[in-house]
Order: sequence, then structure tokens, then C-alpha cells
Amino acid sequence: MINLKSTLMALALATAMTTASAVGAFAQGKPTVGIAMPTKTSARWIDDGNNIVKVLKERGYGTDLQYAGDNIPNQLSQIENMVTKGDKVLVIAAIDGTTLSDVLKQAKAKGITVVAYDRLIRDTPNVDYYATFDNFQVGVLQAQSIEQGLGLKEGKGPFNIELFGGSPDDNNAFFFYNGAMSVLQPYIDSGKLVIGSGQKGMDKVATLRWDPATAQARMDNLLSAFYGKKRVDAVLSPYDGLSIGIISSLKGVGYGSGDQKMPIISGQDSEVPSVKAILRGEQYSSIFKDTRDLASVTADMVDASLSGKEVSVNDTKTYNNGVKVVPSYLLKPVVVYKSNWEKTLIDSGYYKRAQFE
Ligand code: BGC
Repeated sequence: MINLKSTLMALALATAMTTASAVGAFAQGKPTVGIAMPTKTSARWIDDGNNIVKVLKERGYGTDLQYAGDNIPNQLSQIENMVTKGDKVLVIAAIDGTTLSDVLKQAKAKGITVVAYDRLIRDTPNVDYYATFDNFQVGVLQAQSIEQGLGLKEGKGPFNIELFGGSPDDNNAFFFYNGAMSVLQPYIDSGKLVIGSGQKGMDKVATLRWDPATAQARMDNLLSAFYGKKRVDAVLSPYDGLSIGIISSLKGVGYGSGDQKMPIISGQDSEVPSVKAILRGEQYSSIFKDTRDLASVTADMVDASLSGKEVSVNDTKTYNNGVKVVPSYLLKPVVVYKSNWEKTLIDSGYYKRAQFE
């Protein structure tokens, strides 16, 4: 009896092991996906990398995740390595969307599928799909939060505003800026918003490499050159990291203390330090882009393209990369305020409450 039981158990164990090794073999059988991320200095890209690796591993793929420290030649050589090693799909969040044409030509020659991740890859026919958020809408939401924070719809004003743009080598930066200006321009035209410095247009307000220190230095200059006597009431900032630089510049000249209120400041990515700044009332809003969803849309693209199925996209008009319109999947960004941060960021399971205590 006992013998029979142990024989049965041994059999069950053997079956389980065979199944496990079959899964392992299957996993090994699926190709490796090269994932090129720009930088670890911003938490969102760390989340992106982790989320994509998680989803792809769950689906049995090998993963090769690289961060380039915001250095263009680094990213280029990381992608060259991926091509040489024989990765079958490349998922790329480019540092400079215009510098990858040569390596992507090599990738194409080897039949590698290329997915532009969050940032469009420009000036090449050799990008197959684009997974991102509705970037124009991001800008619209940022500007609408300023509209709301100032009470512009209720006819309040005039107010002084300064504009910041993202990195001019990132296609998204133009979409954010144009989306924001679609909301702000009518108020500028009617005089309800006044750009104290007069600096407008991406050629004047862009922030190379999304660098917080560059934004801080520009804000310092704007405050000393144009705001000796008047106050700045709002700052359009396209990214939380820039908002942090802008806020420290403002604090340096007394905003946020005594009767000098902080201006209404936007942001993007809902990174933890910036959500804390929203809770303290220093930043007014941010944008939440659920990188778990972006990872799963990307994994769907990988899966479908490798199995010869139709890749699901929901936009085939918007993202012309200079050579062709890249079929895209656009996710919806969500604006985050003090009033909805818990529902958006905690109840969704994206962050843990303890991160804010
Ligand atoms: C992304 C933003 C991010 C910015 C800076 C953009 O391409 O879409 O979410 O804030 O890069 O990292």
C-alpha cells in the first residue's frame, strides 16, 4: 500500500518535472527581445523596463534589457549588439529619435521587427510599429490643468505664464507642446495669459535631454530677467523632472512661502517625488501613463508579429516619422491632481500607499 502510494507520488513528481521542463524548453524556444531604454535617471523608464521584461517573460520570451544613460552612442552600440546577437524583435525607446537609421537598416536586413516604444523613431522606413500614449492629448491635459488651476474658464486673469518644452530630439516633445498650445493659445490671444518673457515656440522653450538642471537654470534666468516686480502665476512643464527643477528655482526666490503662493505647475509621469510635491501643494498636476498597459500592448505587438498574425493598432494617421506613417497603438493618458491621486495611482495598484507615507 505504502509502496503503491510512493510509486504514485514519484510518478506524479516525474510528470510534474516533465511538464516543467517542457515549459522551460518552450520558453527557451521563443526568441529573445532586445529592449533599449534611454535612462535610469527617471523612474518611469525603470518601470517601463521592468514591466516589459515581466510581460515578455510570462509569455515565454527571452529578454535583453539595456539602459543607455541618456548617451546616444551608448544606445547605438547597445542596439548594434542586439542585432549582432540575433534578437528577433527590438523594442526601442530612443534617446534621439533621428540617430538610428543605419542600425535599423542592418536590423531590417536580418528580418528583425522594430517597435518604437513610447518615442517615435524618425527618418527611417525600418520601424514597424509604435506603441505609445496619445501624446497630443498629454499636452492638452497639462494645459487644461493650468486652465483649471487659474480659473481661466471662469474668466479670471490676466495671469503671467512661462512655457517649458521637452527635448527637441524627442518627437513627443512637439506633440506635448502643440497639444498644450491648442488650449493656451486662445487665452494668450485674448490677453488672459501673458508670457512674461515673451519666449514661445519649441525653438525657444525646449529643454535638451529633458534635463532638470537645464530647466532650473532657465527658470532662474526668467525670474531674474522678467519677474523682478511681477509674479509668475503658472508654468507649463512637460515632465515631472523639469517641474522639480522649476520648483526649486521658484523656492529659491521665495515662492511657496509666506503669502507668495506657488504658481500652477504641470508635469508628467506621476513619479513618486512629484506626486509628493502635488500633495504638498507645490506642483498642481501630473500625467499618469500606466506603463503596465504600454508593456502589454508592446508584448502583443511582439507576439503577433512573430507569429505572423495581424498586429493590433488603433491609429494609422498621426505618426509620420518623416519617411512613412508608423502604425501605432495609442493609450489614454490620465491627469493626476491632489483630488484623484489615490484613485488613479493607489487603487489601480500602480504604487503602494507606503511609498507616500
Ligand atoms: C515621454 C514622457 C517623459 C519624457 C522624459 C517622453 O518621451 O513620453 O513620458 O516624461 O520622455 O523622459
